[in-house]
Amino acid sequence: MNNIAEQLNLAYQNLNKKCGLLGIKSDTVQLIAVSKTKPTSAIITAYQTGQYQFGENYPQELAEKSAQLNTYNNIVWHFIGPLQSNKTKLVAENAHWVHSIDRLKIAERLSAQRPENLAPVKVLLQINISNEPSKAGIAADEMFNLAASVAALPNIELKGLMAIPAPGDSEHAFAAMQQLSLQLQQLQPQANELSMGMSDDWPLALKYGATMIRLGTVIFGARDYKQE
Ligand SMILES: *Cc1c(COP(=O)(O)O)cnc(C)c1O
Repeated sequence: MNNIAEQLNLAYQNLNKKCGLLGIKSDTVQLIAVSKTKPTSAIITAYQTGQYQFGENYPQELAEKSAQLNTYNNIVWHFIGPLQSNKTKLVAENAHWVHSIDRLKIAERLSAQRPENLAPVKVLLQINISNEPSKAGIAADEMFNLAASVAALPNIELKGLMAIPAPGDSEHAFAAMQQLSLQLQQLQPQANELSMGMSDDWPLALKYGATMIRLGTVIFGARDYKQE
């Protein structure tokens, strides 16, 4: 086996083991392979092992990869990066999921630009759960308002919440996200997905109810440039 296949295999073994320890059914957790900056050949290698969920951060890169891989019918594209309004069309045309909604305007544009032949875009609201200044995401107390407005849009399905905790704040942040998610589900029962956990903190995220974990480095190796 090559590296990517091996690392993916190992990631699933670790995921299954952790789910077992926590008493979670492992098929209730989606592993999203974050392929940003990686070539389409890496995605194809992962696909051939049965990995179909991929995460991308940049609208242009998503559009290019989606076009190049359009014969790989099972691929589900998750857009997980910051989204400016002049790039929404690329995402509306190519993503199945968008994890990073933090403004109504972005959701409105995705809804308006979603091609008619595609199913509604599934979206998550990004919460700035560690209250970091000038970081993406809404404050927790803005969740209900944004959720109600987004859920009312025609070509959008509100599916849940996403967060990226500040370094050192993971446990506190994941616990707070679990509470927020339960509150949201009282009003929007279908919005039960919780996207949280990356290569270095996913086991903790699972403990607090993550249903989608986003793993890049542990599957595809280090990226060529610094992200944050
Ligand atoms: C890059 C990125 C990831 C993957 O991070 P790793 O630490 O490489 O697993 C997950 N989520 C988001 C939002 C990202 O931007």
